[in-house]
Amino acid sequence: MKELDRLICHQKATIKEVMMCIDKNTKGTAFIVNDEKKLIGVITDGDIRRLLIEGYGINDSIEMHIQEKFVYVLETENLQDIKNKFNHRIRIIPIVNEEMQLVDYAEYDENVHISLAQPQLNGNEYKYLMDAFFSTWISSTGKYITEFENNFSKYCGVQYGIATSNGTTALHLALTALGIGAGDEVIVPDITFAATINAVIYTGATPVIVDIEEDSWCISPDEIEKAITPKTKAIIPVHIYGQPCNMGKICEIASRNNIYIVEDCAEAHGAEWKDKKVGSFGIISCFSFFGNKVVTTGEGGMCVTNSKELNDKMRILRDHGMSKERKYYHEVIGFNYRMTNLQAAIGTAQVERIDSILEWRTELEGQYRNVLSEISGIRLQRNDLPYRKKIAWLVSILVDEEKRDKLLEVLKNSGVDVRAFFVPLSEMDIYKKYANDCHVSKKISKMGLNLPTTYEVKKEEVDKIAALIDSVLV
Ligand SMILES: *Cc1c(COP(=O)(O)O)cnc(C)c1O
Repeated sequence: MKELDRLICHQKATIKEVMMCIDKNTKGTAFIVNDEKKLIGVITDGDIRRLLIEGYGINDSIEMHIQEKFVYVLETENLQDIKNKFNHRIRIIPIVNEEMQLVDYAEYDENVHISLAQPQLNGNEYKYLMDAFFSTWISSTGKYITEFENNFSKYCGVQYGIATSNGTTALHLALTALGIGAGDEVIVPDITFAATINAVIYTGATPVIVDIEEDSWCISPDEIEKAITPKTKAIIPVHIYGQPCNMGKICEIASRNNIYIVEDCAEAHGAEWKDKKVGSFGIISCFSFFGNKVVTTGEGGMCVTNSKELNDKMRILRDHGMSKERKYYHEVIGFNYRMTNLQAAIGTAQVERIDSILEWRTELEGQYRNVLSEISGIRLQRNDLPYRKKIAWLVSILVDEEKRDKLLEVLKNSGVDVRAFFVPLSEMDIYKKYANDCHVSKKISKMGLNLPTTYEVKKEEVDKIAALIDSVLV
């Protein structure tokens, strides 16, 4: 017997026959069809229970109890539409053809996987990608490179954009163009992705790791101040988890001490400090377009700057250090840090709708805030700090240190992709020798976790995740 046939009952069946059908198929549901095999209703074990309570006999016909309205989907509907019809009551949905004949059914999977992050590629991404592909300009020259560089830097309010192969190479390119190297010191925050500090180490400079602020989780201006020495050449403020750093204080410190700022904006495309976008404060600012970032090109990155001189320098360094005037004459030891036209095609489409991407993210974060604020023991990421307009990259929360790992485990076992905060750089053997006292970051990192933040997470999933968290924190 086919799986689907186990769910089908004829309209003339008795209540008992429908009960037996439901009992055998173990789905809690029977699909009722007429003589032409057309679907005319859905009966659940709950419906049967109600009929018996109302006094109907098990040998009565089911026919008069079939509801005219019931949920079904057409075989032509897409997956997302089907998914949207599930709720806490409806766990199984018949799929029919144009004639209303049953062809299959969809079942809700309790353990359906909820991803932490996922690129949203349903704008012009495919169209531009194919355009680049068929143009045969699939390497690192082509119209989309220029378009992406222009549009993204303009979005940040900065004059020049230099697309790179990823965010790490963008950071390395920026530091190299600024002449940073052996004997120099560069200040980085303790909570960041390793790429930030690695880029410093690649140049031969010495990283200096400083603590974060308790409220924003971003690099602490006071700790920067304390860490400055005559060797300090640059500060890399990282706008962590979508939260902009205190750029007022950091810019003031940098200019007073004659130090460069290189922003790491990998996690905060579109965030603002005093109505100015991140990326517009550094002498050079760096972005990543990795698959889990707000704007993605798969792999990719960009340096943005207002300096024509640095723009020219970075373009040469990105392209093997080759002279612009004399082909195959190399003026400096450069790199191949170029982005391909294929990646830039995707990026161009992403930038077109960055506002709408940020909008659904903010809306989703709002839904999380609504339900999570009801649960005691949760500290939500601050979105009310003066002058800062954060974006929702990964929705981030703090819980009791003792409960955090248990929470990670429970959520993962329920198919919810969650992530612990970054391990502080100061706690890793390879970096700890560069660290100043970082007690705040050590504490915060043990409490933090990132929750699924994708366009597929709907109210249902938010509620499910909140209920799971609640069950651990009580
Ligand atoms: C993602 C990320 C990077 C590195 O970007 P890649 O494109 O993966 O090289 C750098 N810094 C931070 C803070 C990041 O989150």
